[in-house]
Amino acid sequence: MNDIKSMTLEEMTEAFGGLNLPKFRAKQVYEWIHKHLASDYSEMTNIPATLKETLSEKYPLNPCKIVRRQVSKLDGTVKYLFEMFDGDYIESVVMKYKYGYTICVSSQVGCKMGCAFCASTLGGFKRSLSAGEILSQIYTAQKDIGERISHIVLMGMGEPMDNFENVLRFIALVTDEKGLNLSMRNISLSTCGVVPKIRELLERKLQLTLSISLHAPNNEIRNKIMPVNRRYPIEELLGICRKYAEETSRRISFEYSMISGVNDSDDCARQLASKLKGMLCHVNLIPINEVKESPFKPSDTERIERFVEILGKSGITATVRRKLGSDIDASCGQLRLKHKQNSSGEENENENCS
Ligand code: SAH
Repeated sequence: MNDIKSMTLEEMTEAFGGLNLPKFRAKQVYEWIHKHLASDYSEMTNIPATLKETLSEKYPLNPCKIVRRQVSKLDGTVKYLFEMFDGDYIESVVMKYKYGYTICVSSQVGCKMGCAFCASTLGGFKRSLSAGEILSQIYTAQKDIGERISHIVLMGMGEPMDNFENVLRFIALVTDEKGLNLSMRNISLSTCGVVPKIRELLERKLQLTLSISLHAPNNEIRNKIMPVNRRYPIEELLGICRKYAEETSRRISFEYSMISGVNDSDDCARQLASKLKGMLCHVNLIPINEVKESPFKPSDTERIERFVEILGKSGITATVRRKLGSDIDASCGQLRLKHKQNSSGEENENENCS
């Protein structure tokens, strides 16, 4: 492979060995890429010029390019539209919290999962991102904002479990102490419920946070809004979640988007509470974000409060998630596949561009 940003130090050392380069060169280049976030070989001051030339031909760094940056006037959330080396577009979002900066990264260009309420699925699926391309989103954003990003949520476009190997490689690289050295505990991986992959993830016993996009308390409703449920029904999903929480002692985070008249009744809350009873978990309620093409409307505040109350009475902790970046369509489920043809048109439409 010539995707140098996706290589571990060992793989890079081996590849460089093939070019008759000494071991320390790989270490230098690895640190330039993953610690100093070099986006071009010209930045690597301790590498000889001829070698830089060879490397840039053989192993292009392909940083993602910022095509558009939108900054929320409400809360400073930044949404990036990045262009990848092959002309594909993806989006990432940087949010500021009390504890630091969090980036929401995409794992695929488009998505196959077909959730009825989500914009990421509308344009279909194009391809999975490599580990290096997922890293690149963080590196480019961190350099752009000039602040350290300490938390990562794999909650952008795409289904991480449908790009399992690359996502695991990404996680290994971003937590590497010779690179950005992020804490595993500061990473959240979100899935719509691909049960066999959750099982595989469990075998790795990682200390990351598993987030499950649940959105319904039973198969009847879940089948209607999340096609993945027809393959892996809710009992199977919650079964593996229970096991996951028990074996890792990590609290599972359930995402539940509140959709008016669809999944927000008292009865839904009761069913949800009974299914989650006794599990080490937390429920994040999110009034669904509106997506132009979808008919769903968010539940009102009163309904959401009532839902929280019912869950609380059964001992399930639930919080209503604060919405960030709502003026720039940067909230959950609003990231969408963009095509080369229309991205420049959209750029002009948006007055928040900087
Ligand atoms: N495919 C993964 C990662 C995407 S994360 C997953 O499904 O978990 C994006 C999160 O936003 C998921 O929890 C998703 O269900 C949620 N989401 C999608 N559309 C939404 C919308 N319109 N409003 C609120 N949340 C939404």
